[in-house]
Amino acid sequence: ATFNDLHLDPLLLKALELNEYQTPTAIQLQTIPLILAGHDVMGSAQTGTGKTAAFVLPLLHKLLTSDKKDEQGTARVLILTPTRELAQQVFASFEKYAQGSDIKGALAYGGASIGPQVKAMKGAQVVVATPGRLLDHIIKGSIKLSSVDSLVFDEADRMLDMGFIDEIKRILRHVPSDRQTLLFSATFDDSVFELSKKLLKDPKLVEV
Ligand code: AMP
Repeated sequence: ATFNDLHLDPLLLKALELNEYQTPTAIQLQTIPLILAGHDVMGSAQTGTGKTAAFVLPLLHKLLTSDKKDEQGTARVLILTPTRELAQQVFASFEKYAQGSDIKGALAYGGASIGPQVKAMKGAQVVVATPGRLLDHIIKGSIKLSSVDSLVFDEADRMLDMGFIDEIKRILRHVPSDRQTLLFSATFDDSVFELSKKLLKDPKLVEV
């Protein structure tokens, strides 16, 4: 199968071509159609499998083809990661695949001054953030999550290991419950299952 078979927006196919991606990876082949069809997805995948593009590409496709053009300036996609490094990596992927579009993204993580991040939040449709710093932005009023229709937890096991459960619960109060939720984790122990039961509705399971 090719990326063409996945029915992604031409703009995304162009970005993939520029990046010399020829064939989708296993997780991409399985996950992209499920996300495009609107399912919640629970994905078990290690880093290096292409899992970032597996959720970034279909979520960008949905933004590009959305009829909510009037909501261009509000956060529609929220991606949570456990660490600053992962947030930076995911954001770099977003920028790579969104090149040539007018979709704006913002990156927020702790241990850096918040001022420039506040500025970047303005007009961002895609927000990649670590949980603690995202809460800072919520409290400051620099971000509104009431229009978020896609929520992603990347490396959920590490998020729990790092003790982010309270932050996650607090963030969830600001995100509409009518949304699509995607959860990726390298491991699925009881605590990750417990979390996924709370977050996901009738999820499709993808394992690679
Ligand atoms: P990830 O597992 O998301 O961290 O991705 C691992 C690496 O594979 C990243 O450097 C991606 O840019 C690259 N990658 C992802 N999907 C593909 C693909 N279909 N073809 C070639 N490289 C890819």
